[in-house]
Amino acid sequence: MELDLGPEIAQFRAELCDWIAAEAPAGLAELADWRTAMTAGGRRGARLTEAQADPAYAEWAEKLLARRLICPQWPEEFGGQGMDAVRVAVLNEEFDRAGVPRVHRGMGESLVGPSIIVHGTPEQQAHFLPRIIAGTDVYCQGFSEPGHGSDLAAVETRGVVDGSEIVITGQKVWTSGAAQANRMFVLCRTDPTVPKHAGLSYVLIDFTDPAVQYRPISQMSGASGFCEDFLDGVRAPLFNVIGGLGNGWRVAMTTLGHERGGRATVQYLGYEREFWELADTARKRGKDAAPLVRQQLAWAYTHVELMRYSGLRTLAQVATGRPPGPEASVAKLFWSEYHKRLGEVAMDIEGPDGLLRPEGDGYPTGRWQNVFLSSRAGTIYSGTSEIQRNIIGERALGLPKEPRVTG
Ligand SMILES: Cc1cc2nc3c(=O)[nH]c(=O)nc-3n(C[C@H](O)[C@H](O)[C@H](O)COP(=O)(O)OP(=O)(O)OC[C@H]3O[C@@H](n4cnc5c(N)ncnc54)[C@H](O)[C@@H]3O)c2cc1C
Repeated sequence: MELDLGPEIAQFRAELCDWIAAEAPAGLAELADWRTAMTAGGRRGARLTEAQADPAYAEWAEKLLARRLICPQWPEEFGGQGMDAVRVAVLNEEFDRAGVPRVHRGMGESLVGPSIIVHGTPEQQAHFLPRIIAGTDVYCQGFSEPGHGSDLAAVETRGVVDGSEIVITGQKVWTSGAAQANRMFVLCRTDPTVPKHAGLSYVLIDFTDPAVQYRPISQMSGASGFCEDFLDGVRAPLFNVIGGLGNGWRVAMTTLGHERGGRATVQYLGYEREFWELADTARKRGKDAAPLVRQQLAWAYTHVELMRYSGLRTLAQVATGRPPGPEASVAKLFWSEYHKRLGEVAMDIEGPDGLLRPEGDGYPTGRWQNVFLSSRAGTIYSGTSEIQRNIIGERALGLPKEPRVTG
């Protein structure tokens, strides 16, 4: 089923397809499987990183930049096209169909930029946003701390104002992409005397500063895509405080709203592809006729289709101008729990081979082992499954708020 999104969108789609066909550098689509469902911390991430170092990718990025197809959803005055959500969905679909990558500016594009657009001063917008689009500033997210993840408002990293600067000291953890970043957006406590939500500030720091130390954390999949970070008196000009001192919670909520929004309308595409790979694995292992395996595969396919239809529902909703609400939490809960279960199904199909690393001890995990191990992370980052259920219960279903522990 395809949605009829009207003649303007049909024309936009047709022009986009022509442009991709004419401009995509030869060999780009073959460099990597740009469409594969990404699982945080997985080896597939490493393969994509290699492909991104290829000159064809750089050429493509230049073309997208010139055409304002990097951060296209940002307003025109900030370097984007002010592209609406429906067009962005069509863009994602057509890039996916052509097997070419969207060039994303990571957390700068999806998290920091939107927060600066909403809460930054004109001077901050003029300074920080072009640097994100150009790829000069690559951000990582300094929110979680060893004792504070879901309970983000309780972060303890301190920010002390010293003249025209803010000095930040504390520890952050689980920082994705820290090793590739040169900037971090930090949530820190600038006023410990007021209620916890009111004493926070959102600060952009230089992550290459000598007062920053970080070290990778090994994950069970063998990847080490995230780090723990030690901020020992990192200085930043007060100019880098977005939204003003003490306003960090509001800015962080803008960031998280974007983080939890996700790519609901195209998400199923990667999972669909992955499903057929698993069906193929079952065939190669001679298990495709086994009733239990068939039942599990039918379960998986049904879930992928449900993702697809729920994405179409979201698309129909944004087409009428209504922003997605708690549906984003439903989608996040659905895909992350699905993927975790799919990893278990895949391990069942692999049988005893699933217990051994294909290249020996200490070597990378295999295709399905990697899904099994790294998909667990999906139910934790961007708000755990329990937190998503709280949001759905309280905000969508209007259930009573969970009891708070005091003291
Ligand atoms: C792959 C990955 C990448 C990440 N990347 C980043 C990053 O780049 N930057 C960053 O800042 N953080 C990042 N995180 C951290 C992530 O945001 C936190 O792990 C997450 O918010 C959970 O926090 P926590 O680990 O402290 O667990 P906790 O908050 O301590 O939760 C522990 C358990 O208690 C449950 N729980 C907590 N509160 C409630 C509640 N109110 N009701 C019901 N159950 C509850 C949780 O669901 C969980 O099962 C990443 C995490 C992962 C796994």
